[in-house]
Order: sequence, then structure tokens, then C-alpha cells
Amino acid sequence: MALRHEVVIIGGGNAGVSLAARLKRYGVKDIALIEPKEHHFYQPLFSHIAGGRAQVREAVRSQESVTPKGVSWLKDRAVKVDAKANSVMLASGSTVNYEHLVVCPGLQYKWDAVPGLAEAVHSPYGSSHYEFELAPKLWTLLSSLTSGTVVFTMPAGPVKCAGASQKPMYLACDYWRERGVLENIRVVMVQPYPTVFGIPEVDRELEGKIAGYGIELRTNSELVAVNAAERTATIRNNADHTSEDLQYDVLNAVPPQSAPDWLQATDLPAPGDQHGFVEVDTQTLRHTRYPNVWSLGDAAGTANSKAGGALRKQTKVLARNLLSARKGEPLSQKYDGYSVCPFTVSRNTVVFAEFDHHYNPMPTIPKVATWKESRLSWWVDRDMFPQVYWHLILKGRA
Ligand SMILES: Cc1cc2nc3c(=O)[nH]c(=O)nc-3n(C[C@H](O)[C@H](O)[C@H](O)COP(=O)(O)OP(=O)(O)OC[C@H]3O[C@@H](n4cnc5c(N)ncnc54)[C@H](O)[C@@H]3O)c2cc1C
Repeated sequence: MALRHEVVIIGGGNAGVSLAARLKRYGVKDIALIEPKEHHFYQPLFSHIAGGRAQVREAVRSQESVTPKGVSWLKDRAVKVDAKANSVMLASGSTVNYEHLVVCPGLQYKWDAVPGLAEAVHSPYGSSHYEFELAPKLWTLLSSLTSGTVVFTMPAGPVKCAGASQKPMYLACDYWRERGVLENIRVVMVQPYPTVFGIPEVDRELEGKIAGYGIELRTNSELVAVNAAERTATIRNNADHTSEDLQYDVLNAVPPQSAPDWLQATDLPAPGDQHGFVEVDTQTLRHTRYPNVWSLGDAAGTANSKAGGALRKQTKVLARNLLSARKGEPLSQKYDGYSVCPFTVSRNTVVFAEFDHHYNPMPTIPKVATWKESRLSWWVDRDMFPQVYWHLILKGRA
């Protein structure tokens, strides 16, 4: 027999749990959260773990402990959505029917998109701090290095928190400088875009740090192949169509990413959308063709840079609009495209980029240049945000 719930949420990550908690607080009684994993992660701390500035245990809780009281956790995986029939098919074979559906299963990693990458990150000289299990390994590799070549890469296309690819790199450079070995280590950063981030104010700050640490920045460039046995990373420059083979002692690679395959196979993405994100009105977060379907977070087809910071705004907008829709009222809340990326440019300072979907600065505190390197921003990113996440955001209170 099929289950039925008033609101069904696919994905119990940052978006799903915080939205469920908020809807519960707003009085929605019957909410089901579909999430297959036993553990819930605060992913921004992966960068700090990889840079030797946080412990593994700080980034993880049991999924049970973060699931809001009164919300039904379906420990299962969505495999199909039939939006015309208002139903979700689960890997177990069950079907869940809904009055409203919220789709937020995050991004999938496409390890196979770069030949040799999967093998390389699991080899003794490779890692990727985008995986919880591999983040501490990166710090083991980086902290034991006294000379050699280290390559940090970021792919083109959608990624979780684009700037996070750089965070362990600066943390390691500062560590090596403290230990007097930085000048023996060649650091190469591979970036797919014309500048280091894309906002002039932020680029200036980061370029100063890059010059200070002596990092070799490869812009317009991508990792296109890895040979783990020979420790060779092939980097292609998309601007001048050249490529080079870099011999590395440590490789940290961020994998190419997209919406999950099963989601791309539904009719929820816009026809022809190559990344497969859920087609929503970018302000109301409601599906443009199915009025009882919604999306937020990394899997939503919004124009913002994908980050947990964006969710702080999206969750409130979606929750309020969903309530209005249930009452037959107009949708009054609008998401403004806000996103954020904190760059840990040293072991105790952060450059805090806050910006809109056009990459224009959008500081939370008006007229304060939060993109300037600061110790206060370090405290906010490293110490305050994890507490706010576990105790307020996941409880639908921030
Ligand atoms: C290394 C790293 C550093 C980051 N740093 C920052 C930062 O400094 N600041 C910042 O704001 N953001 C940062 N982010 C990004 C932030 O973590 C994400 O933007 C945020 O978690 C997105 O929330 P989400 O709920 O959309 O996806 P997620 O939190 O990834 O959750 C998706 C959930 O859906 C579940 N799921 C997947 N498929 C299915 C399915 N078929 N059925 C049911 N459930 C499914 C998954 O198991 C997962 O629990 C970082 C991310 C990483 C990886």
C-alpha cells in the first residue's frame, strides 16, 4: 500500500532538515523526509579538517539526531518522481504520495568524468576534501610534506561552494610557512575561470594571498586526466588550447558535479538543461510547471552560486510560500539570489565573499566590506557557523 503525506521532502541534508524543521514550527503536521544515509554532515567543515583546523567528529551527527521531532524519516532513496500522479518511488519498491513535494537531494560527484581521477584520489598521493572520508587524509598528506609539488584543482560547471576548492590550500601554505618549508614546496592551483573567483573585490584579496604564498595560479584551466601510478595530472588550458602534464607529490581534486542521474531522468528539470536541476521560479522556488512541487539548495535550478549560506534565505522563502500555496494565497516571499563563500586565507583569517547571482557584492551588514581579510570572519566561519548550523539552522530557527 502506498504511503501518503502532506509534505514529502527528498533529501535530508542542509536543505531538507532545515526546511522540515521550519515547516514543523509553522504548524505543518504531516511531513516525511526521505534520506538514505545514517549520518548527516556539516560539509563546510570538511575544508577545515583537510587543512588541519577541525576534528572529524565536529562535522558529523547521526541523521536520527538531526531529524526534527514529529517528522517521519523514511530511510530510503528516491528513484523516480511522477509529478503528474503526485508520487515518489523509492529504492525499496514503496511509493509515497504527496500533497506537496520538495526536491533537495543535492549534487552528485562525477568521478568518471576525468579519466584516472577516482583511482588517484584513493591512491597514497591523492585526495579530495569534498568527501568526508578523504578530508583527514588530505591533512595527513599536506602536513607531512616538506618539499615537492602540490596540485589543487577545481572543475568547471556547478560545484558546491566554488571557493571551497581553495580553502585547504591556503591553510596548508600558512602551515608550511610557519614551519619554514613553504619555499621548498611548489603549489599549483587550477581554476576553470578567467580569475581566481570572479568578484573584483574578492579577487584582489585572494591574489594578494596567492602572491604572498608564491602559488602558481592556472586560470581558464581544468584537470582532464590523472595517471595515479606515475603521479601525473594533465591540465588543459581552455583559453589557449594547450595542455601540460604536472608531476605531483600530492593532488587534491574537486570532482565534476551535476544533479543526480535519477533526477535528470524525471521531467522536473527544464527541457534541455544539461545539468538536470529542478526547474523552479528562481524567486518563489516553486516549480514552473507543477505548482505543488518545490526545490531549494544545490539541486534547485536557481541562478545563485550553490552554498549552504544561500539556504539560510531560501528555506524561509520556500516555507512561507508553501504555506501560502496550501491556503490558496498568493506567494509573497522572494529569494534574492544571495550566496556566500568564506575563504580561509590563513590559519586564523578569512575573506568572506557575500554576493548575488550576478556576482555583485551583497554584504549582510550594509556598507561593511566583509571581503576584506579578517580575524572576526575566521571566528564566524570556523567557530560560530558550526554552532549556528547544529543548533539553529537545522532546527528551522536561522
Ligand atoms: C567541501 C565542502 C565545503 C563547503 N563549504 C561551504 C562553505 O564554506 N559555506 C557554504 O555556505 N557552503 C559550503 N558548502 C556547500 C554546502 O555544504 C551545500 O551547499 C549544502 O550542503 C547544500 O545543501 P543541500 O541540502 O542542497 O545538499 P546536501 O546538504 O548535500 O544534502 C543532500 C541530501 O540528499 C540526500 N540524497 C541524495 N540522493 C537522494 C535520493 N535519491 N533520495 C533521498 N535523499 C537523497 C543525500 O544523502 C544528502 O543527505 C561546502 C560543501 C563542501 C562539499
